[in-house]
Amino acid sequence: ENSSFLRKTARSAQIYREAARWIPGGVTANIKYFDPYPIVMDSASGTYLYDVDGNQYIDYNLCYGALILGHGNQSVIDAINQAFARIGTPIFGTPHRLETEMARVLVDMYPGIEKVRFTNSGLEATLLAIRLAMAWTGRKKLAKFEGHYHGSYDQVLISVNPQQRNLERHPVKTLDSLGLPDYYAENIVVLPFNEWDQTEEILHQHRHEIAAVIMEPIQGGFIPPDETFLKRLRELTHQYGMVLIFDEVKTGFRTGLSGAQGIYGVVPDLTALGKVLGGGFPVGAVGGWEEVMELCSPASGVDILTTEQQPPSLGQDQPLFHSGTYNGHPIVLTAGLATIQVLRKPGVYPQLEATTTQLRNGMEEILNRYGIACQTVGVGSIFNLVLSDLPVRRIQDVLESNLTLRRKLDTQLLNQGIFIKPLNRFSLSTAHTPEVIDETLERFELAVKSLVRK
Ligand code: PMP
Repeated sequence: ENSSFLRKTARSAQIYREAARWIPGGVTANIKYFDPYPIVMDSASGTYLYDVDGNQYIDYNLCYGALILGHGNQSVIDAINQAFARIGTPIFGTPHRLETEMARVLVDMYPGIEKVRFTNSGLEATLLAIRLAMAWTGRKKLAKFEGHYHGSYDQVLISVNPQQRNLERHPVKTLDSLGLPDYYAENIVVLPFNEWDQTEEILHQHRHEIAAVIMEPIQGGFIPPDETFLKRLRELTHQYGMVLIFDEVKTGFRTGLSGAQGIYGVVPDLTALGKVLGGGFPVGAVGGWEEVMELCSPASGVDILTTEQQPPSLGQDQPLFHSGTYNGHPIVLTAGLATIQVLRKPGVYPQLEATTTQLRNGMEEILNRYGIACQTVGVGSIFNLVLSDLPVRRIQDVLESNLTLRRKLDTQLLNQGIFIKPLNRFSLSTAHTPEVIDETLERFELAVKSLVRK
């Protein structure tokens, strides 16, 4: 059934083979690979991607959710051009005013943020958040949830991809990469998402050793938490003196201007941001309570902390070290600020939700009509299509669905000009108008039809 895919993407195949001679797997990030080869894009505009064979796709990957305004948003491009013309350099290598401007925006919008540091990616943001938590508590273990992704580094590449549904519901510790020595895993405690009793028991067991609990408040950006689960986790981490880190790299500015913490009303100690924040450029940020964030301040003689706020591990000559040549890049922050300015206009998020609902309902209706069990699972402008009618509370429930059929459907979607990474979630942008959704649904139905016919 791949034959029309192979026919339509001959030039992608050729470029892929060339790339694979010089680049392992022909990709610069493992997730960008899929079978039989990834499609090579050539240009983009609004909701559309164009590949090297001249095929057009409606993009629902949107650079893994980063492009909330679609491709080439004019306000963002104008802002970048103006900034570059005004400042005359891509980067100063010194502090500049946009850093303060963006920090204030984040402090205004995120209940859990009083101070901010910028990084160049989501992974660097979670890495810094974890280091801050270790320094603040003086403890050395990290608790993370099974199936939650926080970036491609050693400490958190553990239990990210559970292989099967675990009926016992005991979380399993797995290493998700070659090259991870055991010592990372030894200091990780794995928790089951949305399973309160077990989570409570495990945290209790390790209550003196765990520095932080890190989580995606919405798993994979699409599986919502039980609200009581989040609230209880907030209370218990507080009680045990553990730092609660929300990794809002996917959800930040996606579920609304204040991320998942805004919609669930649960305030973490530290928040990691990325993706949308950079307006399509590499970025990350960590924000949190002033006392914790101040651990990385190198300033002497600035008396910001009062004595009773002094954390246990502070007070020595050396702050927590955080650095990066490109941190707070002016052009990146310009793109991010321009993006947020658009998102702040009234009606933007309701419109995103309306088009997302239109697409979700339409897909479900079509699949139901063809007798295929399905559901869409999501929050705000991100969702996944799960081919089963089991409730989806954890990523393992997705593994129980009909992934074979979903994979075939995804190939047909690519053939019909709907771009997602196979088996991955759908993200929408403000460029996805109701008319684009109608067009998507027509293509979707053709894809489903060709599947049923086979
Ligand atoms: N955390 C989450 C929740 C993410 O979704 C991602 C990226 N998919 C990251 C961290 C890592 O971000 P980056 O790819 O920018 O390093």
